[in-house]
Amino acid sequence: MKSMSNNRNISLTDYNSFRTSAFAKFFCEPQSITEIKSCLQLHAAEDKLIIGGGCNLFFTKDFEGLVVHPLLKGVAKLSETADWVDVEAMAGENWDDFVKQCVDAGYAGLENLSLIPGTVGAAPVQNIGAYGAEAKDCILEVKTLNMSDLGLRSFSNEECRFDYRESFFKYNREFLITSVVFRLYKNFNYQPRYKELNEELSMFPSPTLQQVRDAVITIRRRKLPDERELPNAGSFFKNPYISKEKVEELSGNYPNLPVFPTADGNSYKTSAAFLIDKAGFKGVRDGNVGTYSKQPLIIVNYGTPNGKNIVAFMHKIQENVERLFGIKLEPEVRIL
Ligand SMILES: Cc1cc2nc3c(=O)[nH]c(=O)nc-3n(C[C@H](O)[C@H](O)[C@H](O)COP(=O)(O)OP(=O)(O)OC[C@H]3O[C@@H](n4cnc5c(N)ncnc54)[C@H](O)[C@@H]3O)c2cc1C
Repeated sequence: MKSMSNNRNISLTDYNSFRTSAFAKFFCEPQSITEIKSCLQLHAAEDKLIIGGGCNLFFTKDFEGLVVHPLLKGVAKLSETADWVDVEAMAGENWDDFVKQCVDAGYAGLENLSLIPGTVGAAPVQNIGAYGAEAKDCILEVKTLNMSDLGLRSFSNEECRFDYRESFFKYNREFLITSVVFRLYKNFNYQPRYKELNEELSMFPSPTLQQVRDAVITIRRRKLPDERELPNAGSFFKNPYISKEKVEELSGNYPNLPVFPTADGNSYKTSAAFLIDKAGFKGVRDGNVGTYSKQPLIIVNYGTPNGKNIVAFMHKIQENVERLFGIKLEPEVRIL
């Protein structure tokens, strides 16, 4: 563990993929639940922030409290039948290394979520999703440590209250996720759920797990900036939900507006990227901040250490989209 005497005023630049500059008053990198507990006991009165890979957050100021960067490692098979296997992965495991391990072992369920940066522990927090799949589809159980009373608690899938980029943990930040248990399947039949992925796989009559993972990686490398070369935090905004009346109002001027009915049929999800593009913000650069040329939903940092510049650019996008469409975009990324 980062020595307790040596853990003051630690730079967080390397701990957020936007590479904004900030300092943590206290910082620890515990490797076990016992180490997490002693670190929390030592700094009981401080505000707490958990950071995994820092790929979904950035800083506008120093963090005047304790940053916990859990380095809990390990992957273990808990039980299996002829059809499925339950696998527990510790929070500090790299997400994509874990997905690769599952695909190599022939376990299906997470392959569409290949190459999403970050850690296993953060995956349930915003219920990561891509190419028609979400982490919630395979999560059986989330194991946590309550940072307030140091109690251990396990959450069933239902108790996690998963939704689109949502979960219980987003609003109950005292729970540090220590590990996640996934139910994965031994038989794989590709289900065509996402147009772009289907097209990438069209040469394979019956794609294998590995072919699906490779196709997802190919599409992502083609479309998304590598955060290590061009700092960003992936999709900056959530895709908004809009009413039927709003769809009718907009479809005259924008016949190509993408709309997807929700399961209850009462509202529609539309594409934030479409709205940002039509508001004139695709591939725009404003000082050292901009939107990515191939995907306007991604805000990129061309070199500012100051997270407030990213927030100012976010406001410009929000204001322009709201003026044009009457829709308020909400950030998916956590701003600290
Ligand atoms: C290039 C790029 C592409 C991306 N593509 C996608 C995508 O396709 N789909 C998608 O859903 N996301 C995507 N993201 C966002 C990001 O990868 C995910 O949100 C990922 O889960 C973040 O993991 P992390 O470990 O970096 O979390 P962090 O950014 O460190 O933390 C995110 C949140 O989770 C909390 N947290 C982290 N670890 C724990 C823990 N152990 N216990 C409790 N709370 C915790 C943090 O406090 C914070 O609120 C992308 C990001 C980038 C940079």
